[in-house]
Amino acid sequence: VMASFRYLAPLALGQALEILAAQTRQVKILAGGTDVLVQMRAGTVRPRLVLDIAGLAELKGVRQEDGWIWIGPLCTHQELAGSDLIQRHGLALAQGAALVGSPQIRLRGTIGGNLANASPAADTVPPLVALGAEVQISSLAGSRWVAVESLLQGPAQTTLHPDELITGLRIPARPGKFLSRYEKFGTRNALSIAVASVSAAAMMAEPGHLTGVRIALGSVSPTVMRARGAEELLSASRLDLDLIAQAAASAARECCPIDDVRGSAWYRQHLVEVLLTRILMSWKDGG
Ligand SMILES: Cc1cc2nc3c(=O)[nH]c(=O)nc-3n(C[C@H](O)[C@H](O)[C@H](O)COP(=O)(O)OP(=O)(O)OC[C@H]3O[C@@H](n4cnc5c(N)ncnc54)[C@H](O)[C@@H]3O)c2cc1C
Repeated sequence: VMASFRYLAPLALGQALEILAAQTRQVKILAGGTDVLVQMRAGTVRPRLVLDIAGLAELKGVRQEDGWIWIGPLCTHQELAGSDLIQRHGLALAQGAALVGSPQIRLRGTIGGNLANASPAADTVPPLVALGAEVQISSLAGSRWVAVESLLQGPAQTTLHPDELITGLRIPARPGKFLSRYEKFGTRNALSIAVASVSAAAMMAEPGHLTGVRIALGSVSPTVMRARGAEELLSASRLDLDLIAQAAASAARECCPIDDVRGSAWYRQHLVEVLLTRILMSWKDGG
């Protein structure tokens, strides 16, 4: 049985920020509820007040705006996976969203909730990091944009203050030959948590030459991490079989995963190598 709590569902962003400012302790923000309700039922989260933001129209939708693709934090995985703008400018994110849970979870779960829940296995986070996404953090005092990477501190830990709300995400709009991709390995086809995942993004201005490479690894460290050694290797020479093997081996060496019920550290490192190879092979002949 859940402990009793107050429930507020404001219909304007300003109201939501005022409620947060007035009551900074034991408030839980509720979006789709697919993480929060599980935690409340398990008793690991016991809020005094639940602030349901699902009615805030300002936090919904996907649109192109001044060189960015703006994504509302209340965007569901289903919406992201099916969005033309996301598929064109950040295919990896559409692929990550399509691999979350099951149809029911994708219809309710939101990108803001996936990010704020800060699981190392969250499927939209490696794509966001690979795509160079930024997140807008707001409180009554104002709002700021920061890199997604700087928000995440560890499992279930973010730099968000109790009076702050995620009010937007954005990825750069990319003209030209921009490639991005997400690969996840889970132990089943549906409803499985990533044992390891890899997302990569790069420009391919000329065939076989990658620039601006960003590689993000999921489920192999306390929070999503970049494989900077592999990024450098890939930006330095022509994409051929030899370079792919070197970069994939480098990414595997760069992470130090843990052993747990879902997989051993050795197995996870091997998966990183396989998943990155898969992505790079798909790009080798021009994407
Ligand atoms: C059966 C099942 C399968 C799942 N499978 C997957 C999977 O395969 N991959 C995966 O990545 N996840 C999976 N999840 C986890 C979950 O569905 C996702 O993390 C989802 O995106 C969470 O979004 P939500 O809107 O439901 O978040 P909520 O549960 O509403 O919130 C999650 C957290 O984010 C905070 N929050 C939400 N919105 C904001 C905001 N705008 N600003 C600040 N804080 C906010 C909440 O306070 C809470 O701490 C699964 C969950 C279940 C129950």
